Amino acid sequence: MNIATIIEKQKAFFNTNQTKDVDFRLSQLRKLKQLLKENEKAIYSALHKDLAKSEFESYLTELSILYSELDFFIKKIKKFSKPKKVKTNLANFPAKSYRIPEPLGTTLVIGAWNYPLQLALLPALTALAAGNTVILKPSELASHTADIIAKLINQHFEPEYFYVYQGDVAETTELLSYRFDKIFFTGSSEVGRVVYQAAAKNLTPVTLELGGKSPAFVFADCDLKMTAKRLVWAKCLNAGQTCVSPDYVLVEKSIENAFCEAVKNEMQQRYSKPEVKIINEKHFSRIEKLIDKEKVFYGGVIDPQNQTVSPTILTHISFDDPIMQQEIFAPLLPVIAFDDLDETIDKVKKYEKPLSCYIFSKNQQKIDRLLTEISFGGGAVNDAIMHLSNHNLPFGGVGFSGIGSYHGKAGFDCFSHYKSILHKPFWFESSLKYPPYNKLKKKLLEFLVG
Ligand code: NAD
Repeated sequence: MNIATIIEKQKAFFNTNQTKDVDFRLSQLRKLKQLLKENEKAIYSALHKDLAKSEFESYLTELSILYSELDFFIKKIKKFSKPKKVKTNLANFPAKSYRIPEPLGTTLVIGAWNYPLQLALLPALTALAAGNTVILKPSELASHTADIIAKLINQHFEPEYFYVYQGDVAETTELLSYRFDKIFFTGSSEVGRVVYQAAAKNLTPVTLELGGKSPAFVFADCDLKMTAKRLVWAKCLNAGQTCVSPDYVLVEKSIENAFCEAVKNEMQQRYSKPEVKIINEKHFSRIEKLIDKEKVFYGGVIDPQNQTVSPTILTHISFDDPIMQQEIFAPLLPVIAFDDLDETIDKVKKYEKPLSCYIFSKNQQKIDRLLTEISFGGGAVNDAIMHLSNHNLPFGGVGFSGIGSYHGKAGFDCFSHYKSILHKPFWFESSLKYPPYNKLKKKLLEFLVG
């Protein structure tokens, strides 16, 4: 069956209304969870082949997130799918008002390679939970994971409901030429633009989960040891190939040295042997070029054979350095020391709006100032990345870092339309809106409007 036929079949299947049945959705989500559970070994093996991820990291950053979201939706979709009552205004008395959530239809989900299982299946299962059908295109760069996803889904789900279509730019371009009811894309801002343009042709709504340069501010009053511990973990997770990774650090000059020493200690203690590899040679050589040997404070060891890069601190960095001109996506931590916060905020604001921002300080005034003045998708105070693990915090970017958000209820909403309904009985009708109009009616209207 070619992809055009599958998309047509999905549209026809959606129109049977089966996916609107909550019991049907529940059974499909349970099936997906069981499928993942039964195939954990094969999944670990694929993730190891693609990125040399350990089982622990694969569980922590891929499978556990999927399980927890599946459990969340299995528990909540009944409630989420019910019409929501809202207040009725006086002018419409007597009436009920409510909003009915409805699935959008046939959706396209395009995944990225850095968390190749989670970033493909999390939006896909969210779309299914909201009652849509899904065509999923995983990233071709993590090919072993893409293969196992395709094998599991295409063997166990009907193509007219949930289908994995593999391929690279050519296949994605082909997919984008068809009309969908929603496109959910995770990847770079450049390709995000391509997706947005393709969607515009059909006025298809999009969610774009993109990236950017996420700063971490470190103030002199922070707990230095804890700051270093949390920041280094966040930077080294998945070898820095994380969209919400702290891209660079802005540290108050008075503690620059102490901060770099604390970060170095953490890196030495816990991350002396890099495990996770850089996804491919192209990225590896891009990263190699970003290491300015004269600015290496610690690390800077690359292993072309295993395609790994050691956790690295770079100092004496300015905003003009090449490493500050692109999203790093590697365990390289450039440190910029500052003593003028106004000027530093201005510099950060010259970049496109980042996906995240992190602030390490005990001073509420400084925290409030940054939270107010810098626009970014989401973030954390005195931590990094962990905001993603709370599904009550919708996850998404702003400006160049993305459009829309998901995780938890926000995900259900992102794949739903809410029909607004005013529901009136027949037994009463005010004469107010009907001609002939007169002064009394005008006065009454003014009273009602307030
Ligand atoms: P990418 O944009 O290169 O690729 C993403 C997807 O788009 C892949 O499936 C790929 O096949 C497809 N694609 C690539 N070029 C295309 C083209 N010209 N036309 C149509 N489709 C095309 O991104 P990536 O390298 O996989 O991921 C890295 C980027 O994604 C980083 O910027 C990172 O910050 C961002 N990211 C964001 C999130 C998030 O949730 N916000 C998560 C992970 C990664």
